[in-house]
Amino acid sequence: MGSDKTRFGLDETRIPEAWYNVIPDLKNPPAPPKAFAPDGTELTMDQIGERLGMIFPAECIKQEMSPERWIDIPGAVIDVYKTYRPSPLLRARQLERVLGLPAGVKIFYKYEGVSPAGSHKPNTAIPQAYYNKLEGITKISTETGAGQWGSALSIAGALYGIDVEVFMVKVSYEQKPYRRILMETYGGTVHASPTDLTEAGRHVLAMDPDSTGSLGIAISEAVEVAIKDPGTHYALGSVLNHVCLHQTIIGQEAIEQMRLAEEEPDVVIGCVGGGSNFAGIAFPYYHRKLEGKSNARLLAVEPKACPTLTAGEYRYDLGDEAGMTPQMLMYTLGHDFVPAGIHAGGLRYHGDSPLVSQLVHEGEVEAVAVDQTACFDAAAQFARAEGILPAPESSHAILAAINEAKAAQAAGEDRCILFNLSGHGHFDLAAYAAYNAGELVDFDFAAGTTLEE
Ligand SMILES: *Cc1c(COP(=O)(O)O)cnc(C)c1O
Repeated sequence: MGSDKTRFGLDETRIPEAWYNVIPDLKNPPAPPKAFAPDGTELTMDQIGERLGMIFPAECIKQEMSPERWIDIPGAVIDVYKTYRPSPLLRARQLERVLGLPAGVKIFYKYEGVSPAGSHKPNTAIPQAYYNKLEGITKISTETGAGQWGSALSIAGALYGIDVEVFMVKVSYEQKPYRRILMETYGGTVHASPTDLTEAGRHVLAMDPDSTGSLGIAISEAVEVAIKDPGTHYALGSVLNHVCLHQTIIGQEAIEQMRLAEEEPDVVIGCVGGGSNFAGIAFPYYHRKLEGKSNARLLAVEPKACPTLTAGEYRYDLGDEAGMTPQMLMYTLGHDFVPAGIHAGGLRYHGDSPLVSQLVHEGEVEAVAVDQTACFDAAAQFARAEGILPAPESSHAILAAINEAKAAQAAGEDRCILFNLSGHGHFDLAAYAAYNAGELVDFDFAAGTTLEE
């Protein structure tokens, strides 16, 4: 069984016409968000909806709690998806050869690095910008850490004629100029956060004029800008249900491409920061399992420095440090948890998508935590075999895929492995420089200290 090809391409007529919404297929209905007034009284769902309506388009809020299994992708969004989708699916034949795998152990990967921003994030930035455009919104504010999300939203804004204002954590703004230049070239406005443009920023600067910023501060600034101006909305690049929904085109395409490869995966793997790229590849396979067409294990991979799914608590927590967002039921390390400065910046989030969290809690998704240095070893091995330089975030999925292959080989079993390569690492060369110089270390979450120095 199995095709002898290496690349399983689809043409643009095969882009899915609907996103897959996992909510109606969950064993239990998802827990609603919670929010409280300053005096401590709990807000009703209508009041929460009203607040969210100040910063998000109505269509995204509707998708957030939708009971519909399939949600049509607007034709105008599909037209933009056509510039880079369907993304390729490859069999990692060169990696398999280097690893010396037997014929029955196969590795496939879906490659999202072909998008304009070099990751899966445009898959949601494009529909979010589109829905904002329909509502007459002229500006979207957001925060960005390393700049992946800010650059995805900047190109999406440019496509629909919407201004994008990005609050970039100051330390990244200064240390990672290339993502900032990309955002500016797409027409985005980028500020080093904390700024003196918002009350939240001025408050921080008054206490500490040399603050290097944090994602929590940047979120507060971006949300404040959106709340104060009726023509401005805010956008999030992960965690929320509608973001996970938009990413499901990844898994739907993968199912089609694995059909061309004449294979069914035994395990489907993705790295997890806020959970959106993992949801993107895994949720359509969850549906396929319910249809009785797949037995795949679904495996989420996170960094040991920020092990939300494997060491966090399953409880209500705030989505951000500053407390601007409602509370959600999810795995969390606590909204004030500040993870060590690993290079996979996109995986340094204290919480996780409530949907991914629920599937872990219900035993439908497995989770594993891995070390930074092992991830970079896997990334280098992958780059030397397949040629693609992976994003440090994606390297977590690569390591898990290699570990699955080795385990199958050791057990004398056949195994078909599929992982999502969420992005390329062309803007992460400083991290690779540190790796090449032998300067990377591992972080122990519990102790908050490095393991090897
Ligand atoms: C942002 C990012 C991630 C982490 O975000 P998720 O929402 O968990 O997918 C992973 N990989 C890349 C390349 C990213 O840019």
